Amino acid sequence: MSEENLVKVVKFGGSSLASAEQFKKVGAIIKADSSRRYVVDSAPGKRSKEDTKVTDLLYKCYEEAEEGLSFEKTFRVIKTRFNEIIAGLELKLNLDEEFETIYRKFEGKAGSDYAASRGEYLNGRIMAAYLGYEFIDAATVIKFDKEGNFLSEETNEALRARLKDVERAVIPGFYGAQPDGRVKTFSRGGSDVTGSLVARAVKADIYENWTDVSGFLVADPRIVENPKNIEILTYRELRELSYMGASVLHESAIFPVRKEGIPINIRNTNRPEDKGTLIVENTCHTPEYTITGIAGKKGFVSVSIDKDMMNSEIGFCRRALQVFEDNGISIEHMPSGIDTMTVFVDKDAFVDKEQQVLSGLHRVCQPDTIDLESDLALIAVVGRGMKNNSGNAGKIFSALSKKKINIRMIDQGSSELNIIIGVRNKYFDEAIKTIYEVYVNDEA
Ligand code: ASP
Repeated sequence: MSEENLVKVVKFGGSSLASAEQFKKVGAIIKADSSRRYVVDSAPGKRSKEDTKVTDLLYKCYEEAEEGLSFEKTFRVIKTRFNEIIAGLELKLNLDEEFETIYRKFEGKAGSDYAASRGEYLNGRIMAAYLGYEFIDAATVIKFDKEGNFLSEETNEALRARLKDVERAVIPGFYGAQPDGRVKTFSRGGSDVTGSLVARAVKADIYENWTDVSGFLVADPRIVENPKNIEILTYRELRELSYMGASVLHESAIFPVRKEGIPINIRNTNRPEDKGTLIVENTCHTPEYTITGIAGKKGFVSVSIDKDMMNSEIGFCRRALQVFEDNGISIEHMPSGIDTMTVFVDKDAFVDKEQQVLSGLHRVCQPDTIDLESDLALIAVVGRGMKNNSGNAGKIFSALSKKKINIRMIDQGSSELNIIIGVRNKYFDEAIKTIYEVYVNDEA
């Protein structure tokens, strides 16, 4: 198929649309490839480190309105951000009427979701005028029920029907509407989700997600100096990496496209010549190194429950886990031994419930001992290449032991896609650097 016949959905993040200058880069990217037919936009992001995202300004402004304070000043700052973009692009667009409506709705306390969504809405209006594309208000095609739950199939149907005969369109990200028309947003960063939904509905060949980095990196650049880029990543690898804290793409953005086998390409608006990272369902492309990526998070607590003959006591684990569930605590990992099970939980979620959990465990499990250990970090070493390589765990163990880093826990999924390692918080950075060394620098 020639490039011309492809359908691409392109989503641009806040930093890609923060100023007229950035808009021009985006315009050039879209015009460079006529298959980039459906555009999903974020609100203007930060122009510099010290700057404030328009979405944050909108939340602030609405808070002032809700508290009955004067919100004039913040509103003016927001208005100026958009008017500067319009002027910089030399558009004949005038959004004064829109600003007026929004102002009135703020006075009428239309809700913080409505307020936050206006960043994407207004930026979408500008983008549509700039590109000469049709503007489609997301409130008409992204559906939520009256409790505010997202309706995936209804949305897919609405988007499909609406876009069927539309050659090119701009659809603002981040929000949709409930049956009574009230605007509802996804969680922060949710424009990624909108892009994915549009890609699914039009059965796109690819979903390009343009941001300010050239894709995923093998490790966090704040820890490892100049880490390598990940060229190809599978959805499953991404899940293993993302839940440990990688923040390039909204977690929920992978599900709609994954259903249709549509690849996501993370690209850099400031370096369009870079290929970025391609996220796919499956690939025969062998990764350059045994591992695809390393990600981790600090701040876990381990709860170790010991009881003689635990293995023969039917229902022991279920009862123990029920205690965590009853206290609303989600479980990160659960390595176990014959007479012991350990549950890793997020410290912030656990501290306030600690005593209820302990007494609950005593009540339902009658353990011999319960040990708590805090200040633990979990590191996920992820890679589809590990399955075909022996000695992965050994390699990690010996490298960490050479650095005198004690491993508190190790857990390998049966798919051999990941190895999870628990270390003390204070060894977190050093452990990641060491694993990067043995897998990337030494294999290079
Ligand atoms: N503008 C929204 C946010 O700041 C949504 C997005 O950018 O995806 O979270």
